[in-house]
Amino acid sequence: MSRIVGIDLGTTNSLVAYVDESTGLPRVIPDHDGQALLPSIVSFAREGVLVGAAAKRQLVRRPESTVYSVKRLMGRGYEDVKEELCYFPFKVLPCEGIVKIQIGSREITPPEVSAVVLKSLKERAEAHFGEPVEKAVITVPAYFNDSQRQATKDAGRIAGLDVVRIVNEPTAASLAYGLQRIREGVVAVYDLGGGTFDISILRVKDGIFEVLATNGNTHLGGDDFDRAIVVWLLDDIREKHEVYLGRDLEAMQELRLAAEAAKIRLSSDERTALTIPFDAFTYHREVTRAELERLIERLVDSTLLPCRMALADAGLAPSDIDEVVLVGGSTRVPLVRRRVRELFGKTPHSQLNPDEVVALGAAVQAHILAGGITDMLLLDVTPLSLGIETLGGIVSVLISRNTTIPTNAREMFTTSVDGQRTVDMHVVQGERELAKDCRSLARFELSGIAAMPAGMPKIEVGFLIDANGILQVTAKELRTAKAAAIEVKPTYGLSEVDVERMVEESFTHAEADVEARLLIEARNEADTVITHVERALGQGGQLIGAGEREAVATALEALRRARATDDRPLIQTTTTELNRATEHLAEVMMDAALKGALASRRADELMEK
Ligand code: AMP
Repeated sequence: MSRIVGIDLGTTNSLVAYVDESTGLPRVIPDHDGQALLPSIVSFAREGVLVGAAAKRQLVRRPESTVYSVKRLMGRGYEDVKEELCYFPFKVLPCEGIVKIQIGSREITPPEVSAVVLKSLKERAEAHFGEPVEKAVITVPAYFNDSQRQATKDAGRIAGLDVVRIVNEPTAASLAYGLQRIREGVVAVYDLGGGTFDISILRVKDGIFEVLATNGNTHLGGDDFDRAIVVWLLDDIREKHEVYLGRDLEAMQELRLAAEAAKIRLSSDERTALTIPFDAFTYHREVTRAELERLIERLVDSTLLPCRMALADAGLAPSDIDEVVLVGGSTRVPLVRRRVRELFGKTPHSQLNPDEVVALGAAVQAHILAGGITDMLLLDVTPLSLGIETLGGIVSVLISRNTTIPTNAREMFTTSVDGQRTVDMHVVQGERELAKDCRSLARFELSGIAAMPAGMPKIEVGFLIDANGILQVTAKELRTAKAAAIEVKPTYGLSEVDVERMVEESFTHAEADVEARLLIEARNEADTVITHVERALGQGGQLIGAGEREAVATALEALRRARATDDRPLIQTTTTELNRATEHLAEVMMDAALKGALASRRADELMEK
């Protein structure tokens, strides 16, 4: 079992977590200073690349080469992010449909920046386990589109990680609270971080999460709370010390840090003291929780409208929500918790650390994918049917679409030609009747089958999809015990759009597909009958009269001619006629065989006596 870690690649902070085998519980991995949160900040200094807290310290000194909030740029084009650019002191350039960040003379893509963060987490995990870590589950916001998800995967690849699954952050948070165990229900995930607010409404049914609606505000979070406190402090300082610090970058940075620290203390304390030493004076004052709440109330209340909009989009009322999950550091603010409780009329889940809950859930998903949780709940379904190509190019489906995974299926096949020693196995995916219209996944050969008449070999084909979505196909000829196998990843390179298109095509072509399949099946049947009759005529033709032989030959010829046309009813009736014309021949041959068998038995008995 290879180890898979769970990673929350956040806008502000990132974390890595795993499931502790001894307790079965997810845990975050701290760095050597005991810090679980790695600031998602990368500074490109002349001396080298800094990441995390070390990079954060460069924010003021080297703003033009210190990249933060790069998640906002992942997988996006210049037009998408134009409005964001005023928030960044570093230069962002358009580049062939994506954006690049200019650092000195270098141009760096957002996935390359994220890869630095991921690599640091990978190394942290490797130091923790004392072994290489190569696989990860990474979380993304539920509203991330395909290219944003792909960019996240690319970041993993650049960091040397195989991203085995991209999981929605609200799904991960729900997993951390074990909500996949609810048989059926609706979960609201309220995520208020440093700079973003997301509300997601999920339906969970039989362990599968479906995103019903998302809403939010990409520029609202704890940083805005800090800014509100800073503005208030600037006024207070102007009043007390007759100086306006709003244009002094370093003083502003000091104020911001002090404001955030005070805000954090006020989540647990009713009042706190603020002391900020400046060059000319030291500023000091007390702040109460009530004062803080007055400053941020408007901001907190502004999260409630997106919640109502998401509910409306999902066609639900607040009372339809069964569980509420809190995510993000800013949900520690007591006023936030109060407002959420009032809106949904439920006490939200908040036992887990809201900064860690997404990473913990990613670890749970990773553990499931690695096969560590076997009694649990399937988190996925096969998007398209899987099968093999059989005689005439028809698809025989072994696992139908929307089957929950892991799953397996088995079916028996045989050969169509006498003495056939090898069978070509063609694994296909799709909803169409003919293999040529489906997606070809893999081909392999089962060889070394002993020469037998057509239809005699017993070829057992097995499909097994594990929790990773990896399909293993095995083919085994039971009489000769020859086997072959192959592994494929059916979802590789498959987008949701592809899946939709393939399902839709199966509807539009349904009638023609079924007709094509029936024609091929009629021809296959005709071929089998023709082969049998030819063999019977050769072996037992002398047992019937010349007239009957003539009649069989005529019916045989008629079927050969019909077989060459596309006229399915004609092929079917001439097949029936040939069967009927040979009924007597079959009986005579059976009698002869039976007599032969009896005769040899009698001979055996005589020998024994
Ligand atoms: P996240 O983006 O989820 O890491 O959340 C970061 C935000 O949470 C920052 O604005 C922090 O200041 C804020 N935060 C962290 N801890 C607390 C706390 N105890 N009380 C209030 N805000 C907090």
